[in-house]
Amino acid sequence: MQHTFLMVKPDGVRRQLIGNIVRRFENRGFVLVGAKMMTISREQAERHYGQHKEKPFFGELVDFITSGPVFAMIWRGDNLIEVSRIMMGKTNPLEAAPGTIRGDFATYVGENVIHGSDSPESAERELENFFSTDELLAAGVLSSATDRIVI
Ligand code: GDP
Ligand code: MG
Repeated sequence: MQHTFLMVKPDGVRRQLIGNIVRRFENRGFVLVGAKMMTISREQAERHYGQHKEKPFFGELVDFITSGPVFAMIWRGDNLIEVSRIMMGKTNPLEAAPGTIRGDFATYVGENVIHGSDSPESAERELENFFSTDELLAAGVLSSATDRIVI
């Protein structure tokens, strides 16, 4: 059993794809245990995408992810991290297989509809960046306020 962080990006929210995306993960057997609509601060966005700080597209990435509300989610399920990455499809939608979220809904790498953690370490870091201790407790990701998330 794993937890992961998934997020419908501003393009997905604008295009009213939240329901479609949630349905895909529910149909697959995963459980949505926490979610909220929010607008990310620049500081939070820079922390989230810290590994891409030196990339030429970093500024565009932060501008885009803060350009409107996102739908941030906590999901639970077996082998969730690996399976969710497969369901999302490749980062560049032009290379993403039809049937995947990016392969069905996107054409441009800068606006590819969904984010999902790529490892247990990323999931832990990203969940802590987007959700408060109370929210993580309510979702069952933490069992007590002094716990660390263990994915
Ligand atoms: P992900 O884990 O599949 O989302 O991909 P990465 O962690 O490698 O990159 C994070 C995000 O940066 C991607 O989802 C893209 O939206 C964006 N990105 C990656 N490469 C490019 C690029 O060449 N140009 C632009 N504009 N955005 C990019
Ligand atoms: Mg990534």
